[in-house]
Amino acid sequence: MSQDNTSDVQAVEAFFTRVTGSFLNGAFVNEGKTREVLDPSNGQCLTTVLEGDKALAEQAVAQTKKSFDDRRWCDLSPAVRERILLRFADLVEQHAEELAQIETLNQGKSIHISRAVDTGFSVDFIRYMAGWTTKLEGNTRNVSIGMPEGAKFNAYTLRQPVGVVAAIVPWNFPMMIALWKVVPALAAGCSVVLKPASETPLSVLRLAELAVEAGVPAGVFNVILGSGSVVGTCLSEHPDVHKVTFTGSTAIGKQIGHAAVDRMAEFSLELGGKNPMLVLEDADLDKAVNGALMSGLLNQGQVCAAASRFYVHRSLHDEFCRRLCEAVDGMQAGPGIDPQVHITPLVSRRQQESVLGFVERAREQGANVHVGGSVPKEGYFVSPTIISGASHSMEVAREEIFGPVLTVIPFDDVEDGLAMVNDSDMGLAASLWTDSLSNAMRLTPRIEAGTVWVNTHVTLDPCLPFGGFKLSGIGKEFGPEAINAYTELKSVCIAY
Ligand code: NAD
Ligand code: MN
Repeated sequence: MSQDNTSDVQAVEAFFTRVTGSFLNGAFVNEGKTREVLDPSNGQCLTTVLEGDKALAEQAVAQTKKSFDDRRWCDLSPAVRERILLRFADLVEQHAEELAQIETLNQGKSIHISRAVDTGFSVDFIRYMAGWTTKLEGNTRNVSIGMPEGAKFNAYTLRQPVGVVAAIVPWNFPMMIALWKVVPALAAGCSVVLKPASETPLSVLRLAELAVEAGVPAGVFNVILGSGSVVGTCLSEHPDVHKVTFTGSTAIGKQIGHAAVDRMAEFSLELGGKNPMLVLEDADLDKAVNGALMSGLLNQGQVCAAASRFYVHRSLHDEFCRRLCEAVDGMQAGPGIDPQVHITPLVSRRQQESVLGFVERAREQGANVHVGGSVPKEGYFVSPTIISGASHSMEVAREEIFGPVLTVIPFDDVEDGLAMVNDSDMGLAASLWTDSLSNAMRLTPRIEAGTVWVNTHVTLDPCLPFGGFKLSGIGKEFGPEAINAYTELKSVCIAY
């Protein structure tokens, strides 16, 4: 660990000692089943936490509901809530290095990503959403109701908080994806109960402390630790939860959606993707190769919007593959906390085995694994893997792998390339690489994805709606769409 920031290292150690388990009503809870939280770079225990069961999940929902029912948050004026959320952003910024180290130690990712994305982007995101607190609005409607004769009406819409929100988040960007849900929910006036993934509970627990320090009243933002099958199910089926917001796998997303519809609760689902890059004959090859490496290997491919299938015009295909192989050759593997390394571990032994299985099956099916698909080092590592010679129908070109595996497939005709891009169950994001404005204008409307980038990939902004088509999910995060999604729209009609 770098020693130039001793106070941050000490703060992390103090937190690992202080943290006990779920964070309910402004304090850590001292009950539950012990779970070791692991460092994926060596499999060693960072600290232990106590995971809750169904009874504690019920209690977490009850505390959250109580905070909404007694209106300790939603009745504060919008300006006061905005100021508190801005203070929260300031605290996250002040504690950015501590939070980044917690994230890297627990999730495994490079400290550079934790600094730039997990904390850096998050601070911008909180500030952006805080601003919406004072800008939520309804409007007046000019009704033409003719009965009873002579009656006059004034009618308008009111945006109100949806109520108790349950947020269930994955392990790839534990803190950032949690904030994508918690902050717009708080900005809208909701109370939130958050369940992190069992692998990565630490950073969100530190966030919950900081939120209270910023002035979010205790009980308005609770964190419940526990398994998806028990605690996650309890939250998604709970009659007192008005909205469930989830990021994770499609299989679990479907269960959560069904459970929500059973009681007509609101829900939003962000379910990852099998995101394509379409590289046309007239693309700038340098930019396309860089884009492929940046977006395909970011967080070792454990990114919902990562590019993982690359349809490259045949005239560029071999050179594209060669350059990818050259770039990953000689990359050093090591713990993410070491700023010199490029290959950091995957989150867990389970994810490592899952990714290696995809590569092994691609090999068996006759694809050409140029480099990678191996374990470069003790710990949950997988070396960056470049595959060509796979057909578009193979598993490696169709299933979300969530690892550092890039599959390159050639095409001759643009229409064939586009057909392969769209021939997918998923549709979260896609990118088109071309120097032709008319190609860009002509093709972007025809790509079936919630976000289409041109000559860039995985560039997100808090103001730009993000969410998938097809099996990639329902609902949008970011932008005014996100905050509106934590409101109910009420019509008011007054006769006078
Ligand atoms: P998952 O969907 O099982 O877990 C995501 C979250 O849901 C975790 O907090 C988990 O505890 C919770 N959960 C699990 N079962 C639940 C249930 N029945 N009810 C309610 N909540 C439940 O994902 P995973 O098993 O950790 O990862 C598997 C695959 O999912 C990955 O390989 C990847 O393909 C995909 N994934 C996608 C994203 C994304 O950003 N969209 C993130 C993580 C994983
Ligand atoms: Mn959809």
